Amino acid sequence: MLKKIKIGLLHGINYIKKNLAIRIPCIYLIPKPQAIYLIPSIKCNSKCIMCSFWSKKDVTLSFKQWQKVIDNLYDWCGPYVKINISGGETLLPGVMHQVISYCIKKFPLTGIVSNGFLIDKKEAKKLIQKNFNNINISIDGNTKKTVNMIRGQPFAFKRSRNAIKYLVNEKNKQKNIQKLLLNLLLWD
Ligand code: SF4
Repeated sequence: MLKKIKIGLLHGINYIKKNLAIRIPCIYLIPKPQAIYLIPSIKCNSKCIMCSFWSKKDVTLSFKQWQKVIDNLYDWCGPYVKINISGGETLLPGVMHQVISYCIKKFPLTGIVSNGFLIDKKEAKKLIQKNFNNINISIDGNTKKTVNMIRGQPFAFKRSRNAIKYLVNEKNKQKNIQKLLLNLLLWD
């Protein structure tokens, strides 16, 4: 509870500073970021028609370099800045995985975006236990046909839908208050 009040206060102060800084030119009023978006890797298991990440070579920093970036962000912003991690698919093994694990230890407000393809019951349990601030699952369409066509994968709709089901069940089981968000795009 106290932690939540502290986060709220820090965000509130930052918000006021941001609005004052627009009106009064003063170096001390420059606010720190309230949210930071990281894309540690563009490696993806989807082949979406509106995105070319999956067809590109994944050129990224090494984990050691990412650690430095994250440590610098921590020193600058403190632990209560929102960190949103997306890609690429965030649950693929490799640098992405390492960056997420490192971030969640340093920043309690870390959240991830996923297409949900890799979330089975076991993975859902692990994800809810990690206590992310938010887990966003994207579904691009409202019918099986559309989702599979947009994602370029015949299993896309089924896997994303199941991922949501597993996460909700696990969240209820663990009585966890983290946010599960559904990014829904309607194309039909
Ligand atoms: S899931 Fe996201 S990153 Fe992957 S191909 Fe689709 S839009 Fe691109």
